[in-house]
Amino acid sequence: MRCLACDRLYTSQEVRRDTNRWRPGYRSQNSVVRQPAYLTCGDRLASSVVNFGDSLPEKEVELSGQHARRCDLMLVLGSSLVVEPAASLVRLALKSGARVVLINQGKTPYDKAATLQAWTGISEVISSAVEWVQRELG
Ligand SMILES: [Zn+2]
Repeated sequence: MRCLACDRLYTSQEVRRDTNRWRPGYRSQNSVVRQPAYLTCGDRLASSVVNFGDSLPEKEVELSGQHARRCDLMLVLGSSLVVEPAASLVRLALKSGARVVLINQGKTPYDKAATLQAWTGISEVISSAVEWVQRELG
């Protein structure tokens, strides 16, 4: 959850959010009547999940561009890469010499530029990859 006044992040458990009563709290939803104000700011907390129609948080967008320019390897999980600004991040990483791994159930405009791509569900690849890394790193 993100405070709409100060941008501070909280887990749902920290703020004891009852999703059944107060709905998911997406920014594009109006707050529920009598929904309690939270913590120090007293402003509304909204889900930190970005849905279609929500604006992206500026700080994270800026940081993602910085990381894309400096990364050695970019993992793109479950994105068709046709929506901006996410698609531009791949272009930035490639331009900076990073390798790009795409895992998506459908093709993307960057498939030919990727070092590796898998047209499958994320869970089919990531759980095996995590197990392999854990085994290799001990
Ligand atoms: Zn706040």
